[in-house]
Amino acid sequence: MSKYTDKVLKMVKERNPGESEFHQAVEEVLESIKVVFDKHPEYDEHGILERLVEPERQIIFRVPWVDDNGNVKVNRGFRVEFNSTLGPYKGGIRFHPSVYSGIIKFLGFEQIFKNALTGRPIGGGKGGSDFDPKGKSDGEVMRFCQSFMTELSRHIGEKTDVPAGDIGVGAREIGYLFGQYKRIKNRYEAGVLTGKGLAWGGSLVRTEATGYGLIYILEEMLKENNVSLIDKEVVVSGSGNVAIYAAEKITQLGAKVVAMSDSSGHLYDENGIDLEYIKEIKEVNRGRIKEYLDKYPEAEYCEDCTDIWSMKCDIALPCATQNEMDVEAAQKLIDNGVTAIAEGANMPLTPAAAKLVQENNVYYIPGKAANAGGVATSALEMTQNAMWDNWSFDKVDQKLQQIMINIYKNASQVAKEYGLEGDLVAGANIASFHTIADAMIDQGV
Ligand code: GLU
Repeated sequence: MSKYTDKVLKMVKERNPGESEFHQAVEEVLESIKVVFDKHPEYDEHGILERLVEPERQIIFRVPWVDDNGNVKVNRGFRVEFNSTLGPYKGGIRFHPSVYSGIIKFLGFEQIFKNALTGRPIGGGKGGSDFDPKGKSDGEVMRFCQSFMTELSRHIGEKTDVPAGDIGVGAREIGYLFGQYKRIKNRYEAGVLTGKGLAWGGSLVRTEATGYGLIYILEEMLKENNVSLIDKEVVVSGSGNVAIYAAEKITQLGAKVVAMSDSSGHLYDENGIDLEYIKEIKEVNRGRIKEYLDKYPEAEYCEDCTDIWSMKCDIALPCATQNEMDVEAAQKLIDNGVTAIAEGANMPLTPAAAKLVQENNVYYIPGKAANAGGVATSALEMTQNAMWDNWSFDKVDQKLQQIMINIYKNASQVAKEYGLEGDLVAGANIASFHTIADAMIDQGV
């Protein structure tokens, strides 16, 4: 590692003790951009890395709410406004018991680079809470969201910071959050949140966007390498919004999704998973994936199993959460002949797993590039809100497709320029770093 990146990584570890996911995300980026600094001493002179790894603002707040039995509960809320060089802070909100500052900082840091790759004018941020929506009633979720927004509303705005969903935050939560923002501010500021309902400022394709975008970029990479998607067997971890629409798009393009999962276990259907039924279970009923057996008793379900990557497949799409694929899991996929891995989740491969799949010439698309379709379509939602307009499904879908193709072309071109042909990790990190760093220099310290 270059002296400069070494020094900055050490500083990050000292200043953010115990925040291992954040350290991991920073190390991954610094490792792959160290080649930049020999050619570009100006970045060091302007203190770009020191500024980039320190969030512009971090907000930690109390979220008190009352459960259905009248008990007062207190959770912790976070918003990390990481970097506003390219536009308003932009990034989702995650509700999950694992949330703490290290998770939000890692996600916010990733978001800066991902958002730059989209080519849209959006900076990077992320928020969340350790609140667990699982098992909570609608009323509890609503009261929690209202309390969360009571504080968050002081810090966000359509030109300041624009949150959206992430794990545990979907259309229902965005609705409750938006309603509370409007009540407090007395402003119909549609562009303050993305992922809204279609009747109140949402964009067509936003629901599908992360999953569809994942497949658009994968399709582009495979096409460039003369690999077809037809009849490929696909394993998708997760069964949330990203997983469902990645599975839907890759099925439409001729592949067969044989396995999906949720936090209780995984499901295998050799005939190809019935996605309409998965949508009914997950989106309509908020149920568990094992309910698939009610309609398809011949499918296989493994309760409490976490070894989804031991299944044989041509394409693996990790769409659940960070560090879900370790080096052993990656090795199993390689032994079973996997051709491509594209990250629907943020940082789902551990650093060792990512290294291993690259060494074994698996086509690998890192999350910053692969799952950027969600936030890119959020930016398209912001554009429509600013214009007081709604675009057709096809129009948004075509723009999304073009953005994903551009991300692939840009990342692979930059990798080539640095003599790292085919390395999309380096390509994506270096391409977005140049965009952000140059703009930071333009804007002064
Ligand atoms: N949470 C998503 C992500 O990780 C979407 C963020 C957004 O739309 O602002 O990129």
